[in-house]
Amino acid sequence: MAVPLLDIKRQHAPIREEIDAAVAKVLDHGLFILGPEVKQLEEEIAKLCGVKHAIGVASGTDALMLALHACGVGPGDEVITSAFSFFASASVISRLGAKPVFVDIDIDTYNLDPGKLETAINSRTKAILPIHIFGQCAAMDEIVAIATRHNIKVVEDAAQAIGTEYKGKKAGSLGDAGCFSFFPTKNLGCGGDGGMVVTNNDELADMVRMLRVHGGKFEYLHEVIGYNSRLDTLQAAILLAKLPYLTQWTDGRRTNAAYYDKALSGLPLKTPVVSKDARHIYHQYTIAIEKRDDFIEHLKANNISSKVYYPVPFHLQKCFSDLGYHLGDIPNCEQASNTVVSLPVFGEMTEAERTEVVEVIKSFF
Ligand SMILES: *Cc1c(COP(=O)(O)O)cnc(C)c1O
Repeated sequence: MAVPLLDIKRQHAPIREEIDAAVAKVLDHGLFILGPEVKQLEEEIAKLCGVKHAIGVASGTDALMLALHACGVGPGDEVITSAFSFFASASVISRLGAKPVFVDIDIDTYNLDPGKLETAINSRTKAILPIHIFGQCAAMDEIVAIATRHNIKVVEDAAQAIGTEYKGKKAGSLGDAGCFSFFPTKNLGCGGDGGMVVTNNDELADMVRMLRVHGGKFEYLHEVIGYNSRLDTLQAAILLAKLPYLTQWTDGRRTNAAYYDKALSGLPLKTPVVSKDARHIYHQYTIAIEKRDDFIEHLKANNISSKVYYPVPFHLQKCFSDLGYHLGDIPNCEQASNTVVSLPVFGEMTEAERTEVVEVIKSFF
């Protein structure tokens, strides 16, 4: 039996009429740019995260870009992040003219290790960008405490973590600003690109709202040099249709993860480690295994899809070679890149599919 890594069509099928109706409504009213659905979605996401402001933008990447820009990050500044994430977590720092400073991760959670932060901070450090990788929050209390002590901002990359919790608080509400992505493969995905910045800070919210419309509050009056980065009304409408099902889909992922945890225990591989402070929403169910590439070949030969997120850490990427890092500099990120693989965990998986994945894994050993 072939098992895909993700099947979005299966997620949409039972709610297709609701999505179609939402799209038709936008085509009828014609308010494609910052229409009523965008405002409504912003209110819903703000409520979900327990924050004052949510601002729809064109992508998760732009959410990070605009949030950092609003925090004042620019040329001469440094921003600290982990070297193990999707490319956008680091590229936005460079694109703002600032310098990314990479610190190592905790090898159990793959999240930024707060113990390694302090030595990376200096007078140029403007912000810390923790990533809630795979759907589990980073050690935010420790990170925020260090940032507060040094008077620097914390922008959460919560692209993989919508609705997840840390000590009972929602991802995105833990730092100065939080950034979400609605890329189709994310836990809450739209029909293209989309993103959102959330914050409790009125000034940051004001600035992000200006930045997304060319840097002004009033048409043709520009206070700062901004962007064209709005969440499309059509995408907001699709997201509004899908949002009521997010909890159910997350529960499905958590059920599948719990099944794997149990079925794979005792095998020579490492199942996801969940911090006692976190509620994991399993954007990815990522295991670590020594003969990773042979393992992937075995899965492939048995029609089980899997994927390595992420095979090359930032400090070893060609585009960041001018930062002067070398192999061996950030060992846990390198170890993660060499040993992790993510398994199918999407909420619509059948029991037969789950069982098949486990059987194929067992047959590898
Ligand atoms: C997906 C993702 C992004 C970028 O989001 P886009 O909507 O694709 O621009 C940023 N950071 C992380 C951790 C992601 O997973």
